[in-house]
Amino acid sequence: MNPIRLHDTLKNRLEQLEPIHKGEVRIYTCGPTVYDFAHIGNFRTFVFQDVLRRFFRARGYRVLQVMNLTDVDDRIIQKAAAAGVSIREYTEKYIEAFLEDMRALNLEMPEELVRATDHIEDMVALIDKLQQKGMTYTSDGSIYFRISKFPAYGKLSKIDMSGIKAGARVDTDRYEKDDARDFALWKAPKPGEHFWETRIGPGRPGWHIECSAMSMKYLGETFDIHTGGVDLTFPHHENEIAQSEAATGKTFVRLWLHAEHLIIEGEKMSKSLGNFYTLRDLFAKNYNPSSIRFLLLSVPYRRQLNFTMDGLKQAETSVERLRNFMRRLREAQFAAGANPEIQKRAEKAESDFDAGLADDLNTAVALAAVFDLVRDVNTAMDRGKFRQQDAPRVIAAMEKFDAILALLTDDDNDKLRKLGFGTALPQIPPEKIEALVEERQLAKKRRDFKRADEIRKQLAESGIILEDTKEGGVRWKQK
Ligand code: AMP
Ligand code: ZN
Repeated sequence: MNPIRLHDTLKNRLEQLEPIHKGEVRIYTCGPTVYDFAHIGNFRTFVFQDVLRRFFRARGYRVLQVMNLTDVDDRIIQKAAAAGVSIREYTEKYIEAFLEDMRALNLEMPEELVRATDHIEDMVALIDKLQQKGMTYTSDGSIYFRISKFPAYGKLSKIDMSGIKAGARVDTDRYEKDDARDFALWKAPKPGEHFWETRIGPGRPGWHIECSAMSMKYLGETFDIHTGGVDLTFPHHENEIAQSEAATGKTFVRLWLHAEHLIIEGEKMSKSLGNFYTLRDLFAKNYNPSSIRFLLLSVPYRRQLNFTMDGLKQAETSVERLRNFMRRLREAQFAAGANPEIQKRAEKAESDFDAGLADDLNTAVALAAVFDLVRDVNTAMDRGKFRQQDAPRVIAAMEKFDAILALLTDDDNDKLRKLGFGTALPQIPPEKIEALVEERQLAKKRRDFKRADEIRKQLAESGIILEDTKEGGVRWKQK
């Protein structure tokens, strides 16, 4: 197997993954700001992170992934105050929606999903440490990080700071800073808004400190991988490096991975531009969770993804193709025996798939390996070159792929219905069900598996599940 190589933003080159802890990869992921529903641009980045962790697990690594939920920031505090509810109450609904959206897209849960507001004490401790080291100053009750004390500032984003001069008031913050580049670690309370009473004074955390505090708490002072969308490189991740490395004197992160944006009509999809779709917007237009997942993972993470409805329709066709192929493998009858060519073909697909992902998570190459296999096997089936014992081998390959792609389970409509979308189940009267069950039994007896299968499918589409009884009969029940 090829070594896993990933593009590190800081070194700006491909680096081989060598986890600090043997057999375990530790990842920190900047999660959503929970003041609204996440949009599919956000999910582009979250799907990339899911493919990444699934690939590590497929390679036999344990994964320890921490994702934060930013449940305190200026917008949240203002919106909660305007609605007259607590921060918890305000964000609860969006956290719940985010979890539902994650499940809809088959995103695996990170081992730790942590809220900023549960970690105020950890942030205070980190700020305290930076104060002890003389890296900060206080102005108008807010505490700032003094960037001039951290010469490596800018190493991640390679941003040219020379144009931003000390004293220039480029920031719209209402607070006084010594240097325009300096950023707030802790913000003084504003009248009528929520604040915490702490040993570094009353106030609330700046945006960046939570990720330094929570990542180091769960993953150690140096950990393997930090991920996010490219917009986070500067200032967020640059500031995380400054805070963390100034406090510990150690390298904060081994590999920085950044996903390029999902764009729509040439622009970044974002809340502020108003050009966004949430998952629910797309569900309401009858698009499936699996089509969205397919589309989001189909473009390698370091390439921009141009979102179009056409692309989404094509994604649906692609997922259908995979699912039909699985049905054919499971249900069609082939001549007895095995074809060694097919066995070899499956092996090649597996190694191409793995090699694609090992090369900086190139999902386009990995998907090509899958669809090439589907094409070749379908051709072999059509030409009578596929044997019964080949089916389990190819199914095993497809299941291996699906441990990472997570597209094969045909549960879109179930998921949609749970979220209040999707099509209602067509109703079949009980006499008709009985008649179809009977007809299916007869079809099976005369070995007409095609017809038997059609009937099973027709019933399944109406939520009717068939169970074989011990006596050789069939029972049906409504899902
Ligand atoms: P936010 O909720 O704004 O903190 O963003 C959550 C994640 O989504 C971050 O990793 C962002 O970098 C990422 N993100 C935001 N917009 C996009 C986009 N249009 N395409 C891809 N990722 C994005
Ligand atoms: Zn972060």
